[in-house]
Amino acid sequence: MSLEPLGPSEPPCPREGQEGREACEGEAADADAGFRFVCLVHYHEVGLKGRNRPSFERKLKQNVEGRLASLADVRVSRVSGRLLVSARSWPDALKAADMLVQVPGIVRLSCGIRAAQRLEDVCRASLWVLAQAEPFGTFKVDARRANTDFPLDSMQLNQRIGAWLCERLPEKGVRMRGPDAHLHVEMVEGSAFVYVHTRKAVGGLPVGTAGSVVCLLSAGFDSPVAAWRMMRRGASVTALHFSGRPETADASEHLVRDILEVLRPLGGVERLCVVAFGGYQREIAERVPPALRVILYRRLMLAVANRIAERWRAKALVTGESLGQVASQTLDNIRATGAVAAYPVLRPLIGMDKQEIIDEARLLGTYGISSVAHEDCCTLFMPRNPETHARPSQVDAVWAGLPIDAWLDRILADVEVLPFDR
Ligand code: ATP
Ligand code: MG
Repeated sequence: MSLEPLGPSEPPCPREGQEGREACEGEAADADAGFRFVCLVHYHEVGLKGRNRPSFERKLKQNVEGRLASLADVRVSRVSGRLLVSARSWPDALKAADMLVQVPGIVRLSCGIRAAQRLEDVCRASLWVLAQAEPFGTFKVDARRANTDFPLDSMQLNQRIGAWLCERLPEKGVRMRGPDAHLHVEMVEGSAFVYVHTRKAVGGLPVGTAGSVVCLLSAGFDSPVAAWRMMRRGASVTALHFSGRPETADASEHLVRDILEVLRPLGGVERLCVVAFGGYQREIAERVPPALRVILYRRLMLAVANRIAERWRAKALVTGESLGQVASQTLDNIRATGAVAAYPVLRPLIGMDKQEIIDEARLLGTYGISSVAHEDCCTLFMPRNPETHARPSQVDAVWAGLPIDAWLDRILADVEVLPFDR
């Protein structure tokens, strides 16, 4: 028998011939009958959360629904420790998998079909699913029965489905170790889920399960990766950008918005706050010794981030710093700048080197945006010889001479906020 008994988007009909087809259509009375194509959403860590598990699952379901909102004809439900995306067509099931691959909390996505728990239906479904996996030379059946409702146990299922397929696919071989196509059949909650097609997803925890953070986001390579890493651990993000305005143009602000558009589908971007920082940098540059300028700029940024965290009830601040990457990121300078932060300052990239960060930015899709040359506050009023080992007492003394509270009040009054609906 050829491997093309059904077109790529034609639902498998369990019985042969016109009679079978009518029987199939009769099943449409079942509300799920039109949604035979599925994308099984596997999670992992979520499943380890004990009593919190239902809330993690609810959040993941919400995020999945949000991500798939533009696909008109899919449904999301829960089934036995997984989420199930049901679609009316195979292309829609594959598209759902494409859209979900970056959603934190999902470890794997398997596209296939749902059949009735009848051996013949399962065999026909298996044949159809295998046809989608072409080209392949060898295959293996891996069937599991979640409970004893079905009369055959897992081993018997493997044998019966395998034998049925071998009869119809004489040109294919069965291989237990390292087959080209690994056919999974899962008998769960009254249905059989049959799939070959599985892809790895991003993992982590569902966005929204870890609370909110304020992420200091420049248009450089590092901080978008830091924000992404926090979202992948379940955090929602308020992005805080310091623009060089009015001393520079607003190019960095546009780039930061583009970066957030890349991150938005993950479901964790809450808002963007933009501070026109150029004027404050000018004042600092005029008032403090050149070597300490950058440390003072960074300290002021963290002090602003602190206030922003208070305003939006965030629980931590996040930067894209990596140890020793530039003068302001030595341990001494990190200590001297961080001293004003009342919230924990998280630095998810601290132990990474630039190449690793850039590789991650490429995967994430922010690399191209961050490569665009732009002026921002980081290039403004830079000293020739910045201090690399600032002493906290020295920085505190300079800090005490600046009208910090008045500046913070003014900055918070002027901050521009762009909400992101998720
Ligand atoms: P990035 O680190 O994002 O590549 P960068 O290299 O321009 O940006 P660094 O000097 O490495 O900036 O700054 C260290 C961290 O300080 C950044 O990762 C970011 O969290 C924060 N930061 C720097 N500049 C800005 C800015 N203009 N707006 C918001 N945060 C900033
Ligand atoms: Mg950097």
